[in-house]
Parts: sequence; structure tokens; C-alpha cells
Amino acid sequence: SKKPVRVAVTGAAGQIGYALLFRIASGEMLGKDQPVILQLLEIPDEKAQKALKGVIMELEDCAFPLLAGVIPTGDPLVAFKDADYALLVGARPRGPGMERADLLAANAQIFTAQGKALDKVASRNVKVLVVGNPANTNAYIAMKSAPSLPRKNFTAMLRLDHNRAASQIAAKTGTAVGDIEKLTVWGNHSPTMYADYRFATVGGKSVKDLINDQVWNAEVFLPTVGKRGAAIIEARGLSSAASAANAAIDHMRDWALGSNGKWVTMGIPSDGQYGIPKDVIFGFPVTTENGEYKLVEGLEIDKFSQERIDKTLKELQDEQAGVAHLL
Ligand code: NDP
Repeated sequence: SKKPVRVAVTGAAGQIGYALLFRIASGEMLGKDQPVILQLLEIPDEKAQKALKGVIMELEDCAFPLLAGVIPTGDPLVAFKDADYALLVGARPRGPGMERADLLAANAQIFTAQGKALDKVASRNVKVLVVGNPANTNAYIAMKSAPSLPRKNFTAMLRLDHNRAASQIAAKTGTAVGDIEKLTVWGNHSPTMYADYRFATVGGKSVKDLINDQVWNAEVFLPTVGKRGAAIIEARGLSSAASAANAAIDHMRDWALGSNGKWVTMGIPSDGQYGIPKDVIFGFPVTTENGEYKLVEGLEIDKFSQERIDKTLKELQDEQAGVAHLL
């Protein structure tokens, strides 16, 4: 049988953590033949550590055959020690009266420390996924704080936006969500993201031709996908933790095990493609194979798309400028 791999999860006692850990331990992320050791980080605070203990009791009670160990900790150097995968979920939520700059600063501190810890102790091949918001900028900060690790190891989650877009398109066209190919989401994990179905197909047919309605695209589809998180909070009274956890599983599974030629969306550090400046963590279409992602290059960007891409890029650059003095 395979040697266990080490999976670090931060914010492990939070809502997303609760929807995530059980699926990782059951083999849904890395395969039903891959044992895992969970290395779970929570803030050192007594209440958070106690809540984490409770989650671990439930993990024990699931008797997952693939769960080869669980390490709870308040120390990033312990959580990331030899980690093969790191899911950075914990982040500072916006509190009452908190300005955007304060939020950026609080998270910059967390992700600087975590980037440094990854740099020091994680596997040199660690695959890092940032879920905690502002996810793209947090991933950028962690990457910049880990100079000895390859830049390409740092990614942010755009997969939830991708899955939301796929689901809206399936409903609009009366097709099965699993049959939709070549969909992508450009940019920031925020309402400025640009979900782009111009290249998408379903059952070999062009989604754009099937829909054939630019007003629906601009005035219904994009706002629906962009504001979906808020709509779920409004309906459920709680945030979209289960679908966020599901997207994290999808992102890591495809990165580790391959997407079989299918396009998926990942937030990855730009190398300058599509006019996105180097190092900006940007949602791009990728395919994945043998543990590596590969950007889909050479797509045509029309005027409408360029405007949307410029807008989400500007937001990311403003966020980057807001943390520059902290790096
Ligand atoms: P959640 O588990 O619900 O959310 C965690 C993070 O994921 C937030 O930044 C949240 O952003 C983000 N997120 C991204 N996409 C989504 C989505 N679709 N739906 C919901 N959230 C999304 O938060 P909890 O407060 O329940 O748990 C966070 C845990 O992290 C706590 O247990 C806390 O103790 C811990 N923590 C750990 C830190 C550390 O490791 N140093 C630092 C801070 C907290 P958004 O805020 O925009 O919803």
C-alpha cells in the first residue's frame, strides 16, 4: 500500500474545515488508495483548540481506513512540517467597523507567517491552496514570504466560481453540468471575477451559440455568479461552507491526480500571459497532468472580456499595493 502523505489544513475547526476534513480523510481528494496524515492548525486560543479536539473526536469515530494520523497544533511550524499539501482556510474575517485596509493588514500578518513557516519546513513540492479571503492576495503574500519554494506551488481557489458558473450554464441550457467543457473564470475570487463561457462546449456544441444572449451574460449570469456567496448567506443565514469545501477538494484533486484534458480554473501566479503582470495570482484556465498545471494559452480576448479582465486585475493590483509595505 502507498506511503501516507501529509495534508495540512489551517482554520481546521471552522465551518469550511468541518465540511472539508472528513472528505479528505475518506479519500475524496487524493484517491481511495492514498493514506493521509492530517496536520491541523488552529489559533492557539484555548477555545479554538478545544473545538479542534472535538472535530478530531469525530474524525476518530468515522474510523476512516485511509486516515493514518492526526496532528492538532497551534504552531504553523508543526502544521506544515513535511507537508505535501497545504490548504490555507483560516483567515481573519471582516469584523464590525473594520476597514478594508485593516482586513488586508490582519491577513497579511497571518499569511506572511504561514509563508515563512512553509518555506522553512514543508516539502519542497508542497502544493498550497489558499481559500481564506482575500484568497488571491493571501496566496501572493504567502508566495512572497516563501522564497525558497517554487512560485508555482502557490495557488488560490477560483474553483467555487468555476463550479457556480458551470451550474448556472447547465440550468440555462438544460444540460448536465458534468458535460460542460472549456469554461473558465478570470481574475480575483471576488464579485469582479469574470466567468467566461465563450469557449465552452456542452455535448460538443458551443455554449455561447446555445445561449446566444449577451444581455443575459452581462446582466444575469455574471452578477448571479459574482454575488452567489451573498445570496447563500441571505438564504441560509450562514456562509457557503460546504460548496467552498467541495471546490477546495476539486481543486486539489485535479492538481494532484489530473483533469484528463478538461479545463479547470485555478488562481496561479502569472508569468505575464494575457497581459497579467508577473506574480499576480490570477484565475486562469488550466489543464492538469502528473501533478502540474498548465495554462491554456492563446485564447482570443474580445473587447467585453478585456474590460472585465482589466477590472478584476485592477482590484487585485489595488490589494497588492495595500499590502506592499507589509512584505
Ligand atoms: P470559514 O471556515 O467559514 O471560512 C474561512 C475562510 O474561507 C474565510 O476567510 C472565508 O472568507 C473564506 N471563504 C472563501 N470562500 C468561501 C465561501 N464560498 N464561503 C465561505 N467562506 C469562504 O470561517 P470560520 O470563521 O468558520 O473558521 C475560520 C477558522 O479559522 C476559525 O476556527 C479560526 O479560529 C481560524 N483562524 C485561523 C487562523 C490561523 O490559522 N492563523 C487565523 C484566523 C482564523 P470570508 O471571510 O470572506 O467569508
